[in-house]
Amino acid sequence: MSFSELGLRAELLRAVDEQGYTTPTPIQRQAIPVVLEGGDLLASAQTGTGKTAGFTLPLLQRLADGPRPKARQVRALVLAPTRELAAQIGENVSAYSRHLPLTSRVIFGGVGQQPQVDAIRPGLDILIATPGRLLDLQQQRHVDLSKVEILVLDEADRMLDMGFIHDIRKVLRLLPEKRQNLLFSATFSDEIQALADKLLDKPAMIEVARRNTTVEIIDQAIYRVDRERKRELLAHLIQRHGWHQVLVFTRTKHGANRLAEQLSKQDIPAMAIHGNKSQSARTRALGAFKDGSLQVLVATDIAARGLDISELPHVVNFELPNVAEDYVHRIGRTGRAGSTGEAVSLVCVDEHGLLGGIERLIGKTLEKRIEPGYEPDPNAKPEPIENGRRGQGQRRGTSQGRNSGQRSDSGARSQANGNRNEGEQRRRSRSGRRSQRA
Ligand code: AMP
Repeated sequence: MSFSELGLRAELLRAVDEQGYTTPTPIQRQAIPVVLEGGDLLASAQTGTGKTAGFTLPLLQRLADGPRPKARQVRALVLAPTRELAAQIGENVSAYSRHLPLTSRVIFGGVGQQPQVDAIRPGLDILIATPGRLLDLQQQRHVDLSKVEILVLDEADRMLDMGFIHDIRKVLRLLPEKRQNLLFSATFSDEIQALADKLLDKPAMIEVARRNTTVEIIDQAIYRVDRERKRELLAHLIQRHGWHQVLVFTRTKHGANRLAEQLSKQDIPAMAIHGNKSQSARTRALGAFKDGSLQVLVATDIAARGLDISELPHVVNFELPNVAEDYVHRIGRTGRAGSTGEAVSLVCVDEHGLLGGIERLIGKTLEKRIEPGYEPDPNAKPEPIENGRRGQGQRRGTSQGRNSGQRSDSGARSQANGNRNEGEQRRRSRSGRRSQRA
């Protein structure tokens, strides 16, 4: 499936193409038609699924034909819990709307408000805001929300965790009755459900990643092995078990290339797929992998994200991801309908911290194996992970990034939020465990 089949207009297709996206992600495939039709949407999707384009592209299309806003009016309002997420959405909106005559602006607390007031004064097609600053500006009559056509609540669960429910309620009271509502949340607590019930009118429900159920049905195992012997062990496992269609994840593009070359030398047909590869090379590799002629596809997380491949028999984490949620996305590629898939991770001494984070996220301890002949050295010392920056978050908007030094909407809130963020992490891992068992 391509973006053009989703019914997006030429200006948007051009912008998407310029971003280098070729295939819509699952959330985009599902959300774009619903939003284009004007319906409400309740979506369970985490960062990394492509959800931002999933709501932004159709939102822009709906706004493109309508009348321009009048002074201080806003046509689409996107609420986000933090300035970082708001800024990130703002960047997406600017990139996708570059060929359309639509205006947008991001506002958040902690910075001077005058430039924001000036930007809103002529009216805006899209306003992306954190709740606190939005209400500050509204109370001073700098913004008029009475003509909002589309409301998006992004990361609604985090907004509630951060104590924004009262602010959200206040904002809702300022909006017109008739509007389109889109609610995105990674988790579904009773509070989110209550908000959804109040906010949404016969919403389409979309769930991608289904991390809790997927994780349950996948056989997961950890092979403990020395850093330098991972490649050898991988080749051994593939050959000994006769694995075919193995999707292998590496952390870096360079690592993906090197591994594919080394496997090929050992008569295991392998190709790497990542952002530096030409489109034709990617298409070729993917085609061969899907038709079974290519035994191993080595991919980075980013490259794999846009690929329409799932229900694979084997997924291997050659290296654990820096962001625990990526583990769940990766292994979610396996698990055929009706039968279980297998996800294997090769873990060396450097990665024990990452493994702990993953086990906390999925709420279970993974089975550890040692392959005879590949016993790890018990005295090996951990080394820093290449390109690791562990704990700082590799990508913007990941939960690790969020929990490290993120500032929030306004100065007054930021301290409380700092404390809440820790609590949030605990609550999230607890709720992850709860839904896992359910
Ligand atoms: P999000 O989940 O919205 O934070 O998006 C995660 C990342 O995926 C962002 O860096 C996007 O630029 C990228 N992305 C979004 N849609 C696609 C797509 N269809 N193909 C490839 N990358 C995408």
